[in-house]
Amino acid sequence: MERILVTGGAGFIGSNLCDRLIEAGASVLCVDNLLTGALHNIEHLFGREGFTFLKQDVTDYIHVPGPLDSVLHFASPASPVDYLELPIQTLKVGALGTHKVLGLAKEKRARLLLASTSEVYGDPQQHPQKESYWGHVNPIGPRGVYDEAKRFAEALVMAYHRVHGLDTRIVRIFNTYGPRMRRDDGRVVPTFICQALAGEDLTVFGDGSQTRSFCYVDDLIDGVLAALERGDAQPINVGNPEEHSILSFAEKIIDLTGSSSRIVHQPLPVDDPKVRQPDIGRARSLLGWEPEVPLDEGLARTVAFFKETRR
Ligand code: UDP
Repeated sequence: MERILVTGGAGFIGSNLCDRLIEAGASVLCVDNLLTGALHNIEHLFGREGFTFLKQDVTDYIHVPGPLDSVLHFASPASPVDYLELPIQTLKVGALGTHKVLGLAKEKRARLLLASTSEVYGDPQQHPQKESYWGHVNPIGPRGVYDEAKRFAEALVMAYHRVHGLDTRIVRIFNTYGPRMRRDDGRVVPTFICQALAGEDLTVFGDGSQTRSFCYVDDLIDGVLAALERGDAQPINVGNPEEHSILSFAEKIIDLTGSSSRIVHQPLPVDDPKVRQPDIGRARSLLGWEPEVPLDEGLARTVAFFKETRR
């Protein structure tokens, strides 16, 4: 039985990953300090065979008895609102936390997968974004704390790969949505859905011409696990290339929910990327992976989740 450690395992993507690994029969050590993650995301896993939860900050020394096959590093505040509120923790988990998990993986001779981000491309001047693009990031802007932490994390992972021969993976995750997003994390998907369900105005930042490409979480997990199994050490984009303007996305949410909400405009946040779309050619050819869940279907499942949960 594979023994896998997931940092950030009580978060949105981390908890979905823990679910999938447990279903596949792995033994899962879920580590989370619950700063932006939450126990309710994993409480159904307590008591499941092979599942262990450790409440710990991965920027501190991590001691894990016994062998490990893989370490999946998903811990980080990840929504712009969260990392603007937690800039130092965001930098620490990307830098010190990545160093700790690399040390652990080296000690255990485990494979290490880093959850990186499309934010390494910043406000991109190449479109769509290929892995070979170096990005356009403002290091001292408000988003720089996340972007630069992940860029440093990638550099550190590559250094451990080159110097210590560690078996490593870097997945660059694009906008992902689905059940277990926090309704108050400020991201566009939960914000618009919850506004629409409450009959409140949908807050489109700027004129809404900026674009994003949304991947359903189940597809994302498939891509991450494919990268873990069959990837190589070079970064790989995991996301859905179907691109939408934020204004048209707001209209879609109003349609799908049958809401009477209207659209209002608010100022665009500083350094908000104007476009974002993954080139997934590498994931297609290397992993044989591509997303399958259509946006309307993924959104319908996400709307159902927010209707069912009070949180
Ligand atoms: N956005 C918006 N209204 C909101 C929240 C977000 O118009 O209430 C926009 C935001 O300016 C950005 C896009 O939606 O252009 C996606 O924002 P999100 O916070 O989900 O993540 P990002 O892709 O910027 O990391």
